[in-house]
Amino acid sequence: MHALEAHELYRFFHIGDDETAALRGISLHVSAGEMVAVVGPSGSGKSTLLSCITGLDEPDAGYVEVAGKRLTRRPEAERSRIRAASFGIFQQSGNLFGHLSVAQNLRLTMLMVGKPNEKRIGMLLESVDLLHRARALPAELSGGEAARAALAAALAADPPILVADEPTAEVDRDTESRLIAHLEARRRAGLATLLATHSKALALKADRIIALRDGRIDNE
Ligand code: ADP
Ligand code: MG
Repeated sequence: MHALEAHELYRFFHIGDDETAALRGISLHVSAGEMVAVVGPSGSGKSTLLSCITGLDEPDAGYVEVAGKRLTRRPEAERSRIRAASFGIFQQSGNLFGHLSVAQNLRLTMLMVGKPNEKRIGMLLESVDLLHRARALPAELSGGEAARAALAAALAADPPILVADEPTAEVDRDTESRLIAHLEARRRAGLATLLATHSKALALKADRIIALRDGRIDNE
């Protein structure tokens, strides 16, 4: 059994008479301790794939299984429960609640699956070098700090799976290598990681690379 499996996902968007087939039959799997990178040009379906996989969006056909349990086509309340317990999610934007400090954002993520652990909040912030920014609001952070805070928040509840959409897009090289080192350490500890990325440095760290083109897996 894989930590995460997607079977033949299809997703269509309609605007007026136009149809965009964002996903056309995508299957993949990620095991515990494995890092899989999704690459492909802008518009190839990476973000749609990741949203369908975490249940933030519903595929029009196909399904997703988390540790052998189907996530797709369940009532939203049930889907959110599975999502909160299974996934750390890093999106392209909107990862942090703007009216909460960095530490409060981590605390809230922990609250959704259990009890906040103050020591763990400190350790997580230290691991992304943000202990000194614990009380800062998201608007007060630089791009690199915000990305690191979002990663810490995604990992706060110690999820078995991390799904990250271009986690290093907004950061400088130095921050990127720190984020990569952090992701590698988590992978060694058993985290299953699925990420969309434009970064060669990050894709090279992956165990497998899945290339998308026009919503299909492009094996060329
Ligand atoms: P990527 O992340 O690889 O850049 P996306 O998954 O964002 O690609 O987009 C794939 C295709 O689906 C694009 O053609 C995009 O315009 C379209 N698309 C994505 N989300 C929507 C949406 N909510 N409504 C309409 N079209 C969308
Ligand atoms: Mg995208």
